Amino acid sequence: MTMTDCIFCKIANREIPVEFVAESEHSVAFHDQSPRQPIHVLVVPKQHFTDVADLTSKSEEALVDLMKLGAKVAAELSTGSFRFQFNTGAEASQTVFHAHGHITSRTPRS
Ligand code: AMP
Ligand code: ZN
Repeated sequence: MTMTDCIFCKIANREIPVEFVAESEHSVAFHDQSPRQPIHVLVVPKQHFTDVADLTSKSEEALVDLMKLGAKVAAELSTGSFRFQFNTGAEASQTVFHAHGHITSRTPRS
């Protein structure tokens, strides 16, 4: 399902041109527009889920696909030390209510 006013639905559906770092069957990865660390990539399911809990309960296939794409991007861009974080709920600093994982790292590869 595409939510018409959801920024990450628009990015995942290529309605807004954003260069993808990587893509898989169910997920896309792109650079965060306000990077907090030398590596800061968002990994986003193509289908709309409100947050990682919603994604987990509704589609194990999309969840595993997202985690695999995140691990692959982290392995390619970092030396192997990274965070993979899901802010869940407004009081935990979630601002975009389409599930997404933040890959951050202080140690880029090269
Ligand atoms: P969160 O606080 O976990 O909801 O994170 C939302 C993240 O999305 C923030 O780090 C924003 O910088 C990032 N963000 C919001 N809009 C865009 C966009 N159009 N392109 C790339 N990153 C975005
Ligand atoms: Zn969405």
